[in-house]
Amino acid sequence: MSYRLSLLLLALSGLIVQPLAAGEADGHLDIYWVDVEGGGGTLIVTPQNESILIDTGNPGVRDPGRISQAVTKVAGLKQIDHVIVTHYHRDHYGGAEALSRMLPIGSLYDNGKFEGMPDNPGKAYFELECEKRVVIHPGYLVPLKSNSPTKPAVKLQCLATRKTFIKPEAVNAQRNNGAEKLHRPKERDGSDNANSVVMLLQFGPFRFLDAGDLTWNQEKRLVHPFNLAGEVDVYQVTHHGLDSSNNPILLQSVKPRVAVMNNGVTKGCAPEVFANLQAVPSIQAIYQLHKNLRPDGKTNNTKNEFIANSERECNGHYIKLSVAPDGSTYTVSIPAHGHQRTYQTRGK
Ligand SMILES: [Zn+2]
Repeated sequence: MSYRLSLLLLALSGLIVQPLAAGEADGHLDIYWVDVEGGGGTLIVTPQNESILIDTGNPGVRDPGRISQAVTKVAGLKQIDHVIVTHYHRDHYGGAEALSRMLPIGSLYDNGKFEGMPDNPGKAYFELECEKRVVIHPGYLVPLKSNSPTKPAVKLQCLATRKTFIKPEAVNAQRNNGAEKLHRPKERDGSDNANSVVMLLQFGPFRFLDAGDLTWNQEKRLVHPFNLAGEVDVYQVTHHGLDSSNNPILLQSVKPRVAVMNNGVTKGCAPEVFANLQAVPSIQAIYQLHKNLRPDGKTNNTKNEFIANSERECNGHYIKLSVAPDGSTYTVSIPAHGHQRTYQTRGK
């Protein structure tokens, strides 16, 4: 083959494999759960092509590398406009510094340095390169590009952080009378999990809740006496599916239809959590980033088709959710093995 011809073919193949950028091209809002092996790494791409990353995976190059691939190769973007770090545990803030050397980061939102902080991410984290740093607070609205008047609005709001909560009147929250019978207090978690940032994403009628690793007794405060989160379509299973989180009062109050668990091979996916999720009447599907390969996994794994990675040494397959341009439906897929299913948005 001539040199010229091979160059031409190379250029053509580049055109063909170039992914279609999400957003403006198709009007969808996309969410990707990047497999960061039992950490947090949730990437949101708005129809305006803005990227928001909630948590950055573990330290090292594996997780920031997978996130960077998702941003550039899958979503077709060149930077991360907003990074939200829910709390200062390594599986959430750990990849931030390496990520900032792979891709430009716009604004970084976190709890800053606060009095009595139980865990400290250290100097390298606090000095990593980004355009702007913001200490987040309940009620904070992430400043996203202005929405078109003819399309549903994208709204990303902080409902709680550092054990403080948004005021009920700010979200027109309803009293959650009678729900208290679902709450049995559990041993307090004294680590930074309890300080997790809780974010609610809305796109027209579609609602998605990501509460980081918020712990049991704080989860109760999120939905009682007022249900500050309201009902949601999609629930990121809090704390990787560990049973120090996922209080039934939260699950039964937010009434998700789809739950996505960012568990690891042996981390999370606790039997109690799995049972409590299945007991939510509204639930239609539970997705897992990993098959739980612990001995207890015989009873608490979802069906294989809803699991992105089944091997111990996995390829880091992601789960994708794509909300229709009018917000009325959303499709969850695992592109690596062809699973795809569409769900109705509850507000529709
Ligand atoms: Zn975690």
